[in-house]
This record gives sequence, C-alpha cells and structure tokens, in this order.
Amino acid sequence: MSAAQAECLFCRIVAGQIPAKVVHESENVLAFRDINPQAPTHVLVIPKEHHPHAAALAAARPEVTAELVAAAGAIAEQEGISEAGYRLLFNTGEQAGQTVFHAHLHVLGGEWLGGLVG
Ligand code: ADP
Repeated sequence: MSAAQAECLFCRIVAGQIPAKVVHESENVLAFRDINPQAPTHVLVIPKEHHPHAAALAAARPEVTAELVAAAGAIAEQEGISEAGYRLLFNTGEQAGQTVFHAHLHVLGGEWLGGLVG
C-alpha cells in the first residue's frame, strides 16, 4: 500500500485495518454498509484498487466500473429492494458532497426516495 493509500479510509477498510459490515466481496470489489445510513438500505460498493472518484475509475478500469454496478444489482436483490426500486449514486468532487476520495457507489433503498437526487 502506498503512503497516500495508507491515509485513505476505504483503502484501510479493504486492507482489513478498519472494520466494516461487509455484504459482498469479489476479486475486485468490496461492498459494506454505510456507517451513517441515509435510507433503510445504504451500502457502499467500492473498487479494491484506489481511484479518487468514479470518472477516474471508469477511465482506468472500465470493467471494474461495470462490476460495481453489477454488484449493486446483486446487493439490491440480496437486500430485497430490487423490485420496489433503489438509487445508485456516485458523488464526484467536493461540490457534489464527496467526502471520501476513493470511488464508491452508494446503493440506497428500502423506502420512498422521491424524485430528487441527493
Ligand atoms: P457524503 O459524506 O456527502 O455522503 P461521499 O459520497 O464521499 O460523501 O460518501 C462517503 C460515505 O462514506 C458517507 O455516506 C459516509 O457516511 C460513509 N462512511 C464514512 N466512514 C465510513 C466507515 N468507516 N464505514 C462505512 N461508511 C463510512
């Protein structure tokens, strides 16, 4: 792990240095429950490799970006929210409210979320 990654919260979760409630894991992807859930189901799906945001991930590893979305779909099934519907969200950059600069896909559902993003 590089010095920058040692400072990254989600790299530390991937490395097992910080505990997380893991709901899904594959070779390239890890998913765990958000520590401050904004909906009854709130899971973060992340690449194990460090990329600062979704666009950087998509440019470097398009296949892993697709794996994130596929994992989100599998998690929605597992959580029983796929039929009612759920939201997938990438906050990208500070003005969008991104606070952890390791790409992560929010999976939100389990209640009426309304039509407005955020
Ligand atoms: P925001 O904080 O505005 O949602 P992000 O899109 O960067 O911005 O999301 C970071 C998410 O990471 C937040 O929803 C936050 O609750 C979550 N989080 C922070 N620390 C942890 C942790 N240790 N375990 C699980 N989730 C975490």
